[in-house]
Amino acid sequence: MEHKFNLVGLSTLVINADTVDEARRSGTDIWTTARSEVSILLLAPEQLKSSEFGHLLNNKEFQLRVVAFAVDESHLLDTWGASFRPVFKQIGDVRMRLPQTPVLIALTATLRVGTHTSNVRDFLGLGDSYHLIRRSNARFDLQFLFRTMSSSPRSLKFPELDWVLESERRIIIFCTTISLGFRVMTYLWRRAYELRDRRKRIRMYNSLNWPSYNADTLELMHTDTSSRVTIATDTLSQGIDVANTDDVVLYGDIPTTSDMVLQRGGRIRDGKGRNSRVIVYLPSTAVETALKVLDDEGQQGRMGKDARTTIDPSIAYLILAKCKVDAVNKLYGNPIEEVPCGCSTCRVNPPVPKPEQCNCSGCIPEVIEKMTSAPSAKTKVKIPASKRVTKVMRRHASTRLTRFRVELWEDADECMDSMLPSEEFLPDTLVKSSYHTICHSKVILESYME
Ligand SMILES: [Zn+2]
Ligand SMILES: [Zn+2]
Repeated sequence: MEHKFNLVGLSTLVINADTVDEARRSGTDIWTTARSEVSILLLAPEQLKSSEFGHLLNNKEFQLRVVAFAVDESHLLDTWGASFRPVFKQIGDVRMRLPQTPVLIALTATLRVGTHTSNVRDFLGLGDSYHLIRRSNARFDLQFLFRTMSSSPRSLKFPELDWVLESERRIIIFCTTISLGFRVMTYLWRRAYELRDRRKRIRMYNSLNWPSYNADTLELMHTDTSSRVTIATDTLSQGIDVANTDDVVLYGDIPTTSDMVLQRGGRIRDGKGRNSRVIVYLPSTAVETALKVLDDEGQQGRMGKDARTTIDPSIAYLILAKCKVDAVNKLYGNPIEEVPCGCSTCRVNPPVPKPEQCNCSGCIPEVIEKMTSAPSAKTKVKIPASKRVTKVMRRHASTRLTRFRVELWEDADECMDSMLPSEEFLPDTLVKSSYHTICHSKVILESYME
């Protein structure tokens, strides 16, 4: 955002925990700079409660210079939960503390109608005196596909994602947890064994990585044509634009709200001419869960109590809707007939108009070829009684594997690994009960041998 302001000649100052810390260490006073030297202050929400910002507000020189407050991604006021609310509440209060009550502009691409809109209005302390401009957030340059996962979020194999390696498209896969992202990464990494530029081609972007690694990944996504698949978590979903993305994949648990699907799809800046897609992989139980949530809502007007088993009604509605695009239009109160935007950007690069036939997976169901390599728990091979593993053989395998793991431990690097117990090299679960799994799994064997 800083970059965009600078491009039109407005000077900026970013004030967040990092820049405050940096300024303190370099002996400069960031708050003095804020008072009179810049046109735009880009303030992290937590700074609203700092005493330094309080002093700034009381400064006469500063007061006279403030003409407007802006809140970007303002839907977050409603969705970021109770812990953030006291901080966000400050936005309206801060505005009232200034003598001339500056203009307040709140922006978002995902504000649902009804209580969500009124909640945001209340957080900003607007009462009835505000003007709402609601333009359509429909993205006709994107195709919405909802698919069912064949793996579980606890799997080690994800064959339904094999296509991301074959495709020459640039893809961001959003996984619900870092752990799932890591397993997806490991799976794809091994599958991509023969592909050139594997290190550039498949990358992870999450908060556990070094900031420099994440920065390199972003740089590759922007500039390097060999960058293909980025496996990301939430960290990449707000405020980061990657212009040349073809597909966004949401993988793992059911997305928490419909906003999440649209925000992540929004990482595709311009899907024109790319046939860009937002592909949502849902657990096999998603439809059942969605039905239950909407049923509970209908009966009691409340949500279930257990946050892990319940989902937001907006996503339940989206999952069950036949046409995903129609569902988005209803949830966000999109005006159906809209006067085209006359701004210079839209005149040069007009958005894709509504097509005659919707291409979402509800309107045109996909035919997905069955993966030949998909693990199937149901195809059990019948083994004749004489060839089955006996109790004695099990005990023998277990003893041999225990001995093997001690050998692995003894051979390991003394500096690096001698503090670890031998179980770290081969967990008990594998040694005692699942030895047949490791003996037959190339992936597991390789990963333990490394
Ligand atoms: Zn449709
Ligand atoms: Zn415009």
